[in-house]
Amino acid sequence: MSEPTIRQPGLLLVLSAPSGAGKTTLARRLLKETPQAHFSISVTTRRPRGKEQEGVDYHFVDVATFQSKIERGEFVEWAEVHGHFYGSPQSTVDVARAQRGVAIFDIDVQGGQAIKRKHPDAVLIFVLPPSMEELERRLRDRQTDSDETIRRRMLTARSEIEHGVSAYDYVVVNDDFERAYSELRAVVVAEGCRRGRVDLSRLKLGVGT
Ligand code: 5GP
Repeated sequence: MSEPTIRQPGLLLVLSAPSGAGKTTLARRLLKETPQAHFSISVTTRRPRGKEQEGVDYHFVDVATFQSKIERGEFVEWAEVHGHFYGSPQSTVDVARAQRGVAIFDIDVQGGQAIKRKHPDAVLIFVLPPSMEELERRLRDRQTDSDETIRRRMLTARSEIEHGVSAYDYVVVNDDFERAYSELRAVVVAEGCRRGRVDLSRLKLGVGT
């Protein structure tokens, strides 16, 4: 029989999806409706786009600053995506552990897998579009990308879906937003009830965590 996993407090929740599947909207809603949830604001070397704000969407830094953060061990994971660096702050993990809260990471599949290697209790959720046609339609509707960018994103989406579906713990299909959100919420509620995540020390039961 395998050894029981010793679960650390807090829930590290990773949401990944091909772009256009709607994961950021799902993540933001979850953040709003989950007590003790923290959204992990990644650090990136890419420039802000459109209405993106420093400290809200990302922390925007130059390459030298990013390198020094790597050297100081400030990232739980970092990766190069489309020629830019992106990293998730270790402090988000530390806060979730200390407060028994929920840390939400809106990152790519390689980032999710890196977090799982370091923190096997992390929960990885992959958000799928209902079809490739619908994904392409959503990307076109955003009217932010050129035909060439859309073609590139569609190619990347195929391999991301293959990786995500085989490596992640849960799959949520975002065909109807409300239904997809309620499935995501159900995963968070169930994972919060796992032995080890429930803070038994708060109860007067005479047993430990
Ligand atoms: P964008 O530049 O479009 O905001 O993001 C590009 C890709 O990088 C997306 O798939 C996004 O999920 C991913 N990403 C954003 N932040 C991080 C991060 O901290 N780590 C990793 N591994 N990927 C990230």
